[in-house]
Amino acid sequence: MVKIVVDSMLGNLARWLRVLGYDTEYSRRTRDRDVISLAVREDRVIITRDLGLHRRAVKRNLRSVYIPPDVVEVVDMLALVAEKLGLSIKFDKGNTRCPLCNSKLDIVLKAQVAHLVPPEVLNKYDTFWYCAKCQKAYWQGRHWKTINDVIETVRSRLSGSAGKEPSQ
Ligand SMILES: [Zn+2]
Repeated sequence: MVKIVVDSMLGNLARWLRVLGYDTEYSRRTRDRDVISLAVREDRVIITRDLGLHRRAVKRNLRSVYIPPDVVEVVDMLALVAEKLGLSIKFDKGNTRCPLCNSKLDIVLKAQVAHLVPPEVLNKYDTFWYCAKCQKAYWQGRHWKTINDVIETVRSRLSGSAGKEPSQ
């Protein structure tokens, strides 16, 4: 699976890529030269809104995706990135990352998150994830419809050959 570093302007995109399971480095404080050195050191693809950074990356033979200023909605960014990098856009509950810190999330037993989750939520859902670093629990709650809607929309944008899963 491809590893990614996004520039400091693309926090929203970073959170989505993490939810979709992609190892995505992002920091609000990340500077251009840090993005390039991280890409080199950890073999990460760069995603950036900065054309200068994109050009420097390409010149150094790094893989880089430039997000132009007119691509604003997260669904459009994801569609562009998926097309350029050949990513599959799907949610896999066994391979998802914490949107806040990029740690891989573990599926846990209800008992393990009971102290973090309101009782009515605990009763209502069956699958819970836990980020040990953020000490935060996740479940298929309020945001779930949004996640599915975004994935559906991206897939419909990609209805050409680029977005299809390999047929075999
Ligand atoms: Zn976390």
